[in-house]
Amino acid sequence: MDRPRPRDAFVSPRFAQPATFMRLPHRTDLTGVDVAIFGVPFDSGTVYRSGTRLGPREIRAQSSLIRPYSHFQQVAPFDELTIVDAGDVDVTPLSVEMAYAQIECYVSALVGAGITPVAVGGDHGITLPILRVLGKRFGPLGLVQFDSHIDTWDEDFGAKYFHGSPFYYGIEEGHIDPKRFVQVGIRGPMYGPHDFDFHHQRGITVIDIEEVRRLGIDGTIAAIRRIVGGRPAYVTFDIDAVDPAFAPGTGTPEVGGLTSHEAQQLVRGLGPLGVVGCDVVEVSPPFDGPGQITALLAANLLFELLCVLARGRRAAVGSG
Ligand code: MN
Ligand code: MN
Repeated sequence: MDRPRPRDAFVSPRFAQPATFMRLPHRTDLTGVDVAIFGVPFDSGTVYRSGTRLGPREIRAQSSLIRPYSHFQQVAPFDELTIVDAGDVDVTPLSVEMAYAQIECYVSALVGAGITPVAVGGDHGITLPILRVLGKRFGPLGLVQFDSHIDTWDEDFGAKYFHGSPFYYGIEEGHIDPKRFVQVGIRGPMYGPHDFDFHHQRGITVIDIEEVRRLGIDGTIAAIRRIVGGRPAYVTFDIDAVDPAFAPGTGTPEVGGLTSHEAQQLVRGLGPLGVVGCDVVEVSPPFDGPGQITALLAANLLFELLCVLARGRRAAVGSG
């Protein structure tokens, strides 16, 4: 099949042409597309340092070096799936509610056409409208959240919707199955033990950073797979799961986190999980370090997620 490919690096230099995710074609006609990568340049749900509205552009720029085959996942995602850069959701920066409605409308069109959404944030609040669409389509979803924060608070400054609340409302609205929800990499000072009351009430699993260290990468992967199971699942990667030494370009950094390599290993280890959508969020280029290392990591994690999707497709058709 003649699938879209990243621009040929032997013909078009990696630094030439307008930047797209992994140098894929930019397409708005999504007929026949399996996976659409799209940007959600929105950060009006942040409460500390903003700037993630600039994430999609910088991640596109930093994705130029990514080659098309994963030696570690043994898959070439662009051979197995029709993947394009669908551009960005035109989100208003002036209203969280309006922006979520715009994201929901955009993702509904994708999912209605059978396309798997791969979102690039933006702040973590953008995950809620995506979960609203996928939850309605596939029923309550399993969820793997890589993050240093729980994001299950119910409000801040009197407002319900912000980047610390997407999973509270995802559960309350019935889009997430809390028993198939695992949070990985949680750390940092909290408000108090009551921060976890919601987890205990609903049966959410937390694998905090000390538990990751205790289980090791393989043990953490096994636990994730056991909790989420093989049924429809969503994967959300908040870049602040990674230590700010590796990923400084984010709004609410927490020291003592994953390394870049551990982040790659954890995503690779997901394997064919039945992933129906995924995102990478919270990259804030104005706070990034030399070499744009945070955006570079985010781009590489997106590639690993595409490989996971390709392996899921293989498993679904029974060839791998
Ligand atoms: Mn988060
Ligand atoms: Mn976070």
